[in-house]
Amino acid sequence: MVDELKCYLVSKRGEEVSAEITRRPVGELASGEVLVRVRYSSLNYKDALAATGNPGVARKFPHVPGIDAAGIVEESSSPEFPVGTEVIATGHELGVERWGGWAEYVRVPAEWLVRRPHGLTLEESMILGTAGFTAAQCLLAVRTHGVRPPDGDIVVTGATGGVGSIAVKLFAGQGYRVVAVSGKADRKAWLMEQGAAEVVDRSALADTSSRPLLSARWAGAVDTVGGQTLANVIRAMKHRGCVAACGVVGGAELPLTVFPFILRGVTLAGIDSAWCPDDRRRVIWELLSSTWKPKDLASLAEFVDLDQIGTAVPKILAGQITGRVVVRVS
Ligand code: NDP
Repeated sequence: MVDELKCYLVSKRGEEVSAEITRRPVGELASGEVLVRVRYSSLNYKDALAATGNPGVARKFPHVPGIDAAGIVEESSSPEFPVGTEVIATGHELGVERWGGWAEYVRVPAEWLVRRPHGLTLEESMILGTAGFTAAQCLLAVRTHGVRPPDGDIVVTGATGGVGSIAVKLFAGQGYRVVAVSGKADRKAWLMEQGAAEVVDRSALADTSSRPLLSARWAGAVDTVGGQTLANVIRAMKHRGCVAACGVVGGAELPLTVFPFILRGVTLAGIDSAWCPDDRRRVIWELLSSTWKPKDLASLAEFVDLDQIGTAVPKILAGQITGRVVVRVS
């Protein structure tokens, strides 16, 4: 029986938020059939919001962030996940409503777990994490909509970020010509190594005119930014194009008319990873571990120990991370 866990604990008193690496009783974990010893977690934008006490993400304190966890089943009352099974948990309430993967253990309902697919190590599964899972959902949405490589360019915004960089790799790996949009001029070569055919500066998508449509440029899109950027991507879609919208780092408003939809037949596909249905979740992890598995995943990753994760939190909030930060937990 495990008694205690080491974790990154966020506390809030009034408006004051503090965080520390500490030990807490395992009995404080929420209920669930499976206790997982966490080997790796990761840093997502949402984790940084939880780590800084954002009430839109974490409502109960003290709190342990980490919407991703990969590890080994330590205790279980689920026949599907016996002790010793290697598992991945992403989304659901993890790191939001209940303590997440920035801890030596998580306890979760069995239906939230996916067995580690044969084609991925636990480490690789967390290089992907929710970011990779989200990028894969974007690819699935664009493909399901019927956009194929000969139809034209795919634009990816926030391209050096977690979701963005994996989207660049995934779409390029499936034969699409990817145009990466980034605010980091010094990361052009890195983005091209990840598979981008072209890199354009974020300012190129900054049109604030009220024109309902812009010149038709994109066959497909992955938008991690939202706000005016998403509106501009939608206004510049080609006829029958598909935009997978998943992010909000640049704003939550959407200044737009209906014309891209009714004149160009553009589809706006909303992407929600936390509550993706479990059968679909398994299909996506299977694809990510086989035909869609990006080459050279390690080139996306920076590894930090649990004790060091605090220093990466302000960086991701400032949009300064390139690729993925993977947390070595135990
Ligand atoms: P990252 O911080 O890793 O990536 C975001 C990137 O966006 C940055 O690296 C930067 O890239 C760019 N960026 C940052 N600030 C701005 C800005 N003000 N305007 C334009 N671009 C900006 O975050 P994640 O990849 O973890 O998440 C990206 C977004 O996707 C977040 O909003 C997150 O909440 C959302 N998300 C949604 C999910 C869902 O289920 N819908 C799941 C996972 C993430 P660059 O410098 O290259 O431009």
